[in-house]
Amino acid sequence: MRASKFFMPTLKETPSEAEVPSHIYLLRAGFIRKVASGIYDFLPLGFRVLKKIENIVRKHMDEAGALELLLPILTPAELWKETGRWDVYGKELFRLKDRHDRDFALGPTHEETITDLVRKNIRSYKDLPFNFYQIQTKFRDEARPRYGLIRGREFIMKDAYSFDTSEQMAIKSYELMKETYHRIFKELGLNYLMVEADVGAIGGKFSHEFVVLAANGEAHIVYCENCGYAANVETASYEFELDRLPPEEEKPLEKVYTPNVKSVEEVAKFLGVDIKKVVKTLIYILDDGTAVAVAIRGDREVNETKLLNYFKALDAHLASPQELEELGLVEGFVGPIGLDIPVYVDRSVEDLHNFVVGANEKDYHYINVNIPRDFKPVEFVDFSTARKGDPCPICKSPLEETTGLEVGHIFLLGTKYSQAMRAYFVDKDGKEKPIVMGCYGIGISRLIAASVEQNHDKNGIIWPESIAPFRLHILALNTKDKNIMQTCEKIYEKAKQKGIDVLLDDRDISAGAKFKDADLIGIPYRIVVGKALKEGKIELQRRDGTLKELVDVSLTDNILEKIKG
Ligand code: ATP
Ligand code: MG
Repeated sequence: MRASKFFMPTLKETPSEAEVPSHIYLLRAGFIRKVASGIYDFLPLGFRVLKKIENIVRKHMDEAGALELLLPILTPAELWKETGRWDVYGKELFRLKDRHDRDFALGPTHEETITDLVRKNIRSYKDLPFNFYQIQTKFRDEARPRYGLIRGREFIMKDAYSFDTSEQMAIKSYELMKETYHRIFKELGLNYLMVEADVGAIGGKFSHEFVVLAANGEAHIVYCENCGYAANVETASYEFELDRLPPEEEKPLEKVYTPNVKSVEEVAKFLGVDIKKVVKTLIYILDDGTAVAVAIRGDREVNETKLLNYFKALDAHLASPQELEELGLVEGFVGPIGLDIPVYVDRSVEDLHNFVVGANEKDYHYINVNIPRDFKPVEFVDFSTARKGDPCPICKSPLEETTGLEVGHIFLLGTKYSQAMRAYFVDKDGKEKPIVMGCYGIGISRLIAASVEQNHDKNGIIWPESIAPFRLHILALNTKDKNIMQTCEKIYEKAKQKGIDVLLDDRDISAGAKFKDADLIGIPYRIVVGKALKEGKIELQRRDGTLKELVDVSLTDNILEKIKG
């Protein structure tokens, strides 16, 4: 490809909407352009990367025996209603009506559509197993679209669905996908972790996420360097037993005056006690309007996903000061003693003695509180968000914490969808049984951004070879110089003959501008043809800075062979 005929509108300045490196560089280097919030054009450079990622994913999915197909984006509401997700999906589902006033949704994922296909076409155990996949545009009206391709409202996903005759077979399919995902993410050159994950709205038995380590990631994970355990903080269990305070003799309950002392830090300081002995009582309003109280040790945080899972709620929020008032409570002084609302206690409080809680009265706290003497919890529950330093649930070593971008998610669905939609097969024993399913997603467009988050410097992107838009960038530093141009043309033609993806910068612009663009775009190999050609030399460079040498132009063939890899 010749740059003079290519479309790569690079930008000198960082667009104001971009905050993270991938968003900044993908915009500046001319890979994407914003159309509306969470909606982007893929320009030719971006499209090339997208296709390369797709092809790597496709190759490994095909090798694993999955069959590619293409389902419609437009999906009828009836299917979503069969599984209840027409309601469950809430505002994230893009809904629309046809001219006959029938409801449709733009597919955010395709469990319903594929299950419908399978139930209509599969009868017997002899027809199974299958793993179907597609690479397709998905739509989700995200609450907070941001960071460019990282969280879009329209994005490209690879989604696969496996159908087996038993849970045992389904686990095999799941394990095969797990291995396949490892192969894919390794070939993409990513530094990632596979972590235990929450099953969320999709539901199912268990699930793993593949998380690319990145400072700007929304996924919070804990992992153990000793035994390899890794989990999303939403699911990571927290080993309370190892983090308990020593037992104490119970002291008499006492109400104390704590004027204007509200936060746990303030209370601990005012009373001169360890923050671990101050228990906060949080009032949550669940989506059905019920209020629940969650008591947790002062140094721990409630994990909302654990909370929602426990209460089987889709949504919950902390009661506002006004809502507290309506419940007869005082902000900053809420406590479990004498409370009308059911109190669920985090396991961090189990076995805690002589602790402090709010007294449900302005400017008062109770000290020396003990369970069950002073109040009775409905249940002890694991609500705590795991964090750095917590003991690993497997080997007890201290956990590390990091952030990342979820690029893949696999679920063992079980029979949740097949039962809801009556996708049954007749087994060997002649009995009708629900098909056992798994589903497997990869965020294809998010992967572009994830790769840039990991591969950039202050000048631009440094693409890994496997997904770079081009492999070789030839810079003709002076287009007026015939010798330079002829040499460039020769190298360009030879590179193409060898099947190297090559971009020749033959634009009539300054050498400085060419170098700037080349750094920004981030093609792995570069051949610079400039002044040194007078001495018969061209320069071979690598964008990652590991190579920069003058070589004899007569060695062009050898160089190209090496670049070809
Ligand atoms: P997240 O927690 O980031 O919202 P999710 O759990 O909703 O992700 P899945 O439903 O498992 O995502 O979708 C499969 C993959 O699609 C994800 O692993 C992610 O890489 C990608 N993905 C999900 N939502 C988006 C989005 N809004 N924009 C870009 N990619 C996305
Ligand atoms: Mg999501």
